[in-house]
Amino acid sequence: MFSHQIPRRKSRQIRIGDVLVGGDAPISVQTMTNTETCDVAATVAQVRQAANAGADIVRVSVPSLEAADAFGEIKKQSPVPLVADIHFDYRIALRVAELGVDCLRINPGNIGRAERVGEVVRAARDHGIPIRIGVNAGSLEKDLQKKYREPTPAALVESALRHIDILNRLDFQDFKVSLKASEIFLTLEAYRLLARQIEQPLHLGITEAGGLRAGGIKSAIGLGMLLSQGIGDTLRVSLAADPVEEVKVGFDILKSLHLRNKGINFIACPTCSRQEFDVIKTVNVLENRLEDVLAPLDVAVIGCVVNGPGEARAAHIGVAGGSPNLLLYRDGKPVGKLKEATLVDDLEQEIRAHIAARQAATEN
Ligand code: SF4
Repeated sequence: MFSHQIPRRKSRQIRIGDVLVGGDAPISVQTMTNTETCDVAATVAQVRQAANAGADIVRVSVPSLEAADAFGEIKKQSPVPLVADIHFDYRIALRVAELGVDCLRINPGNIGRAERVGEVVRAARDHGIPIRIGVNAGSLEKDLQKKYREPTPAALVESALRHIDILNRLDFQDFKVSLKASEIFLTLEAYRLLARQIEQPLHLGITEAGGLRAGGIKSAIGLGMLLSQGIGDTLRVSLAADPVEEVKVGFDILKSLHLRNKGINFIACPTCSRQEFDVIKTVNVLENRLEDVLAPLDVAVIGCVVNGPGEARAAHIGVAGGSPNLLLYRDGKPVGKLKEATLVDDLEQEIRAHIAARQAATEN
């Protein structure tokens, strides 16, 4: 099968909990909770749902010292590394550093007096915690707004370089940077400019992208263009939707570019009057039933014999329309016939058996 490998920008590697970001580490997928952080049970439940969907890292906003204490409890119960999102208040950063945070999202230039910045950076260094600098077009510094009149790629980069400069002066290199805007071309150019100037990993995102469909498409185009040029070490798809959807879209983007494999990759035809079984229903039901599968597997579901055998042969498991029975392919070979009435159950069984056999073979 044709495959293309994207050469990635070489970045310095950092560690967020047990997840490596940058260098040759897989591009990680993040999301953010939208529960009230002080509601520990609700936030832990959401972190777990995101982790079950495959999220490598989850960010939690920590707007107060009370939320910082709640964060400590959430951290104890989290199956994945947590980033604390903090604005301005250095005391919150110090508190979560004590409580085991895995990464601080805080802009050094917003912390205030130099001693406070120094304290936060010292705490980060002492605890081995990286920092994420997050520049956002919607909250550029006032003087940059005046200088550039509107958010431009150069304005975003200048803002980032100011924060970076503070960390450089403190000889702190364990950071990653995001430059987010809701406009795709502004975001692209800003990341391209910064990618040439620093060696640290880049956290990608199109901010406030929109709802699930439009926001997912916008993110796929924006992040896809950057990733296809080798730029990006970790990403978050920002959607006005459930965090689990953000994780799914993030992985779909990476899967489409062959940058990460996770779960079932369905190859399904769009259907037409030639279809000999209900392709759309089959794919929808299987997608739901197989959400727990994290092992990568290509599954083709094709409605008729026009393209069916070719696509089904190229996948790990494939089913193609055929009369009176549907044709089943395994690893490129026809292995049997299936009936539409039991198709979903039979395919699910076939897929799970295939994954189990592959796992058993690698363990032996
Ligand atoms: Fe139609 Fe067959 Fe093409 Fe599916 S594979 S869209 S059923 S012609």
